Amino acid sequence: MNLDLRSFLALSTAMMVVMAVMFGLLRRSLPKGSPGLGHWTLGLVVLVLAGGLLAARGVLPDAVSVLAGNTALLAGTLWLLVGVRVFYGAPLRLMPWLGLIAATTVALHVTLFFQPLPGARTAIVCVVWAALLFQMARTIWRHDRLRFGARFTIAVLAAHSVLVALRAASALISQANTDLLHPTPMQTVYLLANASMTLALPFGLVLMSLERLRDEIEFRATHDALTGVLSRAPIIDLVDAEMHRSRRVGRPMCVCMIDIDHFKSVNDTHGHLVGDQALIAFTQRVSSVLRPYDRIGRYGGEEFLLLLPDADAAAAHSVIERVRAAVAVENAPLPRLTASAGLTEIRPTDASVDALLGRADAALYLAKAGGRDRVLTG
Ligand code: GH3
Ligand code: MG
Ligand code: MG
Repeated sequence: MNLDLRSFLALSTAMMVVMAVMFGLLRRSLPKGSPGLGHWTLGLVVLVLAGGLLAARGVLPDAVSVLAGNTALLAGTLWLLVGVRVFYGAPLRLMPWLGLIAATTVALHVTLFFQPLPGARTAIVCVVWAALLFQMARTIWRHDRLRFGARFTIAVLAAHSVLVALRAASALISQANTDLLHPTPMQTVYLLANASMTLALPFGLVLMSLERLRDEIEFRATHDALTGVLSRAPIIDLVDAEMHRSRRVGRPMCVCMIDIDHFKSVNDTHGHLVGDQALIAFTQRVSSVLRPYDRIGRYGGEEFLLLLPDADAAAAHSVIERVRAAVAVENAPLPRLTASAGLTEIRPTDASVDALLGRADAALYLAKAGGRDRVLTG
């Protein structure tokens, strides 16, 4: 197979133009300010420029094709890395990278015009490029929950950086035929693989953005907007699932309804905004003293449902006393709160979640009627 590598490079650059345009358009479809997207679009545009300049080797002067082309290649990739860092909210220290790219440009200049060393020149560019690609993969590896999109992107980046590093090694060893457009089998394979990577990488970044968006939508659908704890339906679903699990494995389990005392007067005295802040502080305090596998959900208003797996009534009682103690600690400037709670353990006769919740609710009612600021077991 004897590809005309210049036409091939021109074609893959044209494909990258399409990619860059699609990224630009994607900004209209993803939520405003989706992190990283702007940087990735700009990075791709610079990479398109780099592809065009490198394809014009021999047509344009070397100072333009080789120097500007390779500098644009590194700068475009750096901007993709900056985008990845922005995506994870972990800003990059730009100066060392910019310094490295400037030093590379100087080294290219020297090896091009003063001390012609084509192998070393290729190796220098490839090593810096591989470092940028590797750094991108490392950032995703460190910061992501590593679902499919992230794992795919890491695989693409790792493969690409290995490929680029191999090219650096082969250029150093052979010291010849390193011209990108020279049709050796190595250059052909390299350009083919490179074109595939430049399509696969943006695809991976889009997958990561869509997964992030899906996470946000899922979180909003299942969590209370004010306090961030689970909403009513999801916590009830969890109680249901846990009830089945506890029965299957023969373990106890409790639920608890907890309701803030005289919360209406907090609103009446301090206003709704302070009431909201007090609700947020309340859930934070409750969550901070629950066991790691306990769950909390907002059942309605200022009433919360706690799920306490693997706890019999006595164990759950002490967890709830810990919760009530944490809630009651002075929290100026917010008003001091107390809460009443109704606790119940699953019984073999419970036909459904409703039976369990009904008992917890009745116990809560008795706790309120008995003077509040207490926990009763029903
Ligand atoms: P008790 O439970 O001790 O019987 O008295 P309470 O005053 O807490 O009684 P109730 O449950 O009837 O009142 C709940 C109040 O909680 C009424 C409502 O205005 C307030 N509330 C419910 N949701 C919110 C909210 O999201 N923000 C604020 N600020 N207040 C809320
Ligand atoms: Mg109340
Ligand atoms: Mg209430």
